[in-house]
Amino acid sequence: MKWLWLLAAAALPLGAEESARELADALRQPRLDPGACYRVRDLAFSREDLRFYFTDGWLIFGAPVNGRIHTAVFERDGESGDAEVLLMPPSKGERLSLAKFTGSPNLNEHFHHAVMVFSDDTAIQLLKTIGERGEPKTSAEMGHLLENKWRETVSNLTTSFLTKLVHHVYGGLPVERGFFYAGVNGRTLGNFDLYHDPSANDQIYAGRLAYRDNVPYYDIWTTFRSRPFRTGQKKTEPLPFAMDNIRIEAALDENLQLRAATRATLVPTRKVSIMAFEISSRMKVGAVRVNGEEAEVLERESLRANLLRGTGSAIFLVAPPRPLEPGPVYEIEFEHEGSVIQKAGENVYFVGARTDWYPKAGFVFARHDITFTYPAQLQLLFAGDLKEDKTEDGLRTTRRVPAGPIRLAGFNLGHYESARVNKGPLSVEVFANRRAEQALQRPPEIFVHTPPSPFPRSRIPRRPDVFTVPTVPPNPLARLQALAGEIASAYEMFSQDYGPPAMPHLLVSPIPGRFGQGFPGLLYISTLAYLDTKDRPASTVGRQNNLFFDEMLHAHEAAHQWWGNVVTTVAQQDDWLMEALANYSALLALEKKKGPQDVQDVLAEYKRMLLAKDEEGRTVESAGPIRLGLRLQSSHNPSAWRNIVYDKGAWILHMLRARLGDSNFRGMLGEFARSHRFQTVTAEQFRQLAASYLPKDSPDPKLEGFFESWVEGTGIPSLSLSQKLTGKAPALRLQLTLRQTGVEENFSALVPVVVEIARQKPRVVWMQTGPEPVTHTIPVRTRPLKVALDPDNTVLAEKN
Ligand SMILES: [Zn+2]
Repeated sequence: MKWLWLLAAAALPLGAEESARELADALRQPRLDPGACYRVRDLAFSREDLRFYFTDGWLIFGAPVNGRIHTAVFERDGESGDAEVLLMPPSKGERLSLAKFTGSPNLNEHFHHAVMVFSDDTAIQLLKTIGERGEPKTSAEMGHLLENKWRETVSNLTTSFLTKLVHHVYGGLPVERGFFYAGVNGRTLGNFDLYHDPSANDQIYAGRLAYRDNVPYYDIWTTFRSRPFRTGQKKTEPLPFAMDNIRIEAALDENLQLRAATRATLVPTRKVSIMAFEISSRMKVGAVRVNGEEAEVLERESLRANLLRGTGSAIFLVAPPRPLEPGPVYEIEFEHEGSVIQKAGENVYFVGARTDWYPKAGFVFARHDITFTYPAQLQLLFAGDLKEDKTEDGLRTTRRVPAGPIRLAGFNLGHYESARVNKGPLSVEVFANRRAEQALQRPPEIFVHTPPSPFPRSRIPRRPDVFTVPTVPPNPLARLQALAGEIASAYEMFSQDYGPPAMPHLLVSPIPGRFGQGFPGLLYISTLAYLDTKDRPASTVGRQNNLFFDEMLHAHEAAHQWWGNVVTTVAQQDDWLMEALANYSALLALEKKKGPQDVQDVLAEYKRMLLAKDEEGRTVESAGPIRLGLRLQSSHNPSAWRNIVYDKGAWILHMLRARLGDSNFRGMLGEFARSHRFQTVTAEQFRQLAASYLPKDSPDPKLEGFFESWVEGTGIPSLSLSQKLTGKAPALRLQLTLRQTGVEENFSALVPVVVEIARQKPRVVWMQTGPEPVTHTIPVRTRPLKVALDPDNTVLAEKN
């Protein structure tokens, strides 16, 4: 019987003589096997939380490659055939996310066909079930039809997963750790993807590639840990190897092409026959050697896989001549070159591939040692203690070694002026371009002037005079000193609160665009922040923009020296926390500089942005819970991500500050930074620590309700307070009633109501909102002077 043969074949070991490239070539040409086409009825099949029912249809398998089957296609049997898939996300935030994309908190979809690619035991499982039911019904005729119909799709999808397939198959990964993918054509939802990958942080996901204004987005409908990982039955595997002691020797030629050799030590945690690394797609990887011996390099990527990772970088595989064994330490060397520096005109340059210009295996803290050789007329900025600096034949060589471990090393270059401010052991040095880049230059102004005719009755019109007046170019040095002073003050304040920064000396450098980025010891700040407001393009001024470029951007990036570079997150659902902490730290610096009213102004502006309506009439905030982080950058409302992660993130911390009290809040942030130095953290750890700083007998003592509403959920409530005074003085009763509207039933917030009574300390009553109006009665001796709903604006809400 054929299926038995397939089962046996699936268990065959891999041919050892095969190279990774030969395997890739074989996998790239998948062939569906018309002889392995089965009539299936009521065939249930699951990949952990993904449950499939092939109710009535045909199932065809791919021909084995190296003894393993990696593809299969299900197609329903004509119009009456059917199949179904079920997926139930285990958490509120994930159900909410799924509902935003599909209209339902659970996925329960009938489908027409499913194309499957896998490195796990899917084929073994399916064939076993088919076989257990007795002699299966096969049809070579149907097989040929399906093979013909699906050949190209299977081939395209296999190419999408080729890197992963080669990594798993060549690496000899056991089938129980292999991945499973199904591209499903749903009856109501159309095409979508389902995925199970035991080696991922979140093993289950569902989503699809979607376009908006011709820009592709990968919409992740839901992703979560599969059942055995949720219940603790299985643990996430440690990385197969650790990469440390990263030594980069990079040279920039006169055309600013970068050529580099990156060396590192590898410490395998288990036997490793193939390794995956990430590098910018602008970089070409040449030779890779392990312990001096040439390794095989495979580069290939797909749009889907790239979008899913959300970076512009590509994965490449390295197969050493012999598998690495745990125990010894290995030396790996990569040669790579490419064009990662772009020219913005007027001698302004910027680094495009800031995070991935050298090979990486995950963002982990590692020691670095970096040498750059570059044309001597340029200044090249990178962080670390200076070990060498010399100029020879017009080439300058600089070597720097960061004192502590860093997750990534960045650099920037230009023709700069600089200003330096020292604050005790800390110093900040800000570099500015001497001229603003091309895009910020203004064209000369043209005047057209028709002088009056000297002959008032002349019929001959005078020729108008046209003359141009050169405009004063924007001055990128305008705020150089001010920036240095402000960043140094913020840097000093943060280090008092959060402990030593990633590096004592901070370099600040300009980058064209409207953003900033904070690398250890090196900030990139938008060139607009260097200009006076009057010199900025019209589209970048206005209250919100001015606050951003004048007050928030540089302080936010400086705060990232702690949030992201001293403590950091690994899981995507925790990433919002680093941005929220950086943004709120910037607000604390603003408060110190200008007082609390400016902070209130920024928060009011944030609220306005969050309540703004999109084209479908939904608020920006309703795009999804903050825990989705970058997943909010979906085809629905790509810019909502920014408002939710940064603006709502700052609000969440502002609300937490009100719950903890000012000094507890600051103490908590300090402990969070100091006790996890150079470690990864989770939002859950943050919740637990914050809860331990709540004043005694606080409501919601574990902050679970707080996180449920503000982090896991969506909604900005509309609140209204009414009051009633009954009884006779001095035995009066004040009845407060708080109503909440505009949010879902299960939304609940704790809101302070302040009651002022003559000759008494104002009394704060915390009221917990719910679907029904809540009341609270307090005895008072005299009529209150004032009853105010959240007078200090500590809750993200609209008040009526
Ligand atoms: Zn940030």
